[in-house]
Amino acid sequence: MIQRKKTRQISVGTVKIGGDAPISIQSMTNTDTRDSEKTLEQILQCASHGCDIIRVALPDEKAVHALPKILNGSPIPVIGDIHFNHELAIKAIENGVHGIRINPGNIGTSEKVKQVIDAAKIAQIPIRIGVNAGSLEKDIKKGYGVTADALVESAMRHIRFFESQNFYNIKLSLKSSSVPMTIEAYRKISEKYNFPLHLGVTEAGTAFSGTIRSSIGIGTLLAEGIGDTLRVSLADDPVEEVKVGLELLRALDLRKGPHFIVCPTCGRTEIDIISIAKNVEDEVRKLQIEKNISIAVMGCVVNGPGEAEEADLGIAGGKGQAVLFKKGRIIRKIPEKDIVAELLKEIRSIL
Ligand code: SF4
Repeated sequence: MIQRKKTRQISVGTVKIGGDAPISIQSMTNTDTRDSEKTLEQILQCASHGCDIIRVALPDEKAVHALPKILNGSPIPVIGDIHFNHELAIKAIENGVHGIRINPGNIGTSEKVKQVIDAAKIAQIPIRIGVNAGSLEKDIKKGYGVTADALVESAMRHIRFFESQNFYNIKLSLKSSSVPMTIEAYRKISEKYNFPLHLGVTEAGTAFSGTIRSSIGIGTLLAEGIGDTLRVSLADDPVEEVKVGLELLRALDLRKGPHFIVCPTCGRTEIDIISIAKNVEDEVRKLQIEKNISIAVMGCVVNGPGEAEEADLGIAGGKGQAVLFKKGRIIRKIPEKDIVAELLKEIRSIL
């Protein structure tokens, strides 16, 4: 059982982060935010797959003007992502965004950062201090190089300023595209502060490599009890980020949901386990099940009956058919063509 480090709790709209709140899943739209319709469409897609909080890029005034429509139609809290321009950050806050993410290091002078803090104070919304290895302050880079210590030093500098302004409604991220550097930086900052942490490996890659890199980086930290919210960064549809994030939490028993036990198939397999398992998994995901249920899809009698017996529901394949197990008992035989439909019927019946 993972013992989570207890952090200070903040709220992004209706979603609580830190303390004893469940670890939330975030993603970021990759539509042009100025196109509010397309952006909303993507937000709805992400939300329907289990995304808790969405972030949108706000690169200019037009994007900020699209915010009210987006906020109005979004079923989940929206965070504005702002770089370089404190005025855009202030306008986004005034337009009702539920939180903002800035890298104070690229906002400019302390006075500009202070103005953003003051606006967030009035609106009572949190700010994520997002430190990134790609945009470290020059003097820190000179002193530390691009290292975990540099990320920590940069975050600490910003935290000190926020604290001097009596602003504690913050969460932190210290991201790098290097997995070991990311892990080290989060471990170190987690020892120093109890602000909630937003986990992520930045620019992690495509769905294939990014999933592996994020799972190792984020997964290692989560397994140590570090992290309150996360985003898996993939060069892909944000829905994929949400799916990977949820699976990551489920793999560590940090989120309830379906658990699939699927045999890898071998020369003994006599039914199409791969497509049966994919179809069942796709259909079950659409049900958005929030309780633990184990579903075994097994190819033959070697390990099949054992795994299927242990699961809430399972099949053990034979020649052109499978035996259906429910809570450890054999229920009936099913012809191969009906396996997906019958399994889904049984899953619905035990929910
Ligand atoms: S359960 Fe049977 S078919 Fe599946 S991998 Fe094991 S031996 Fe092969």
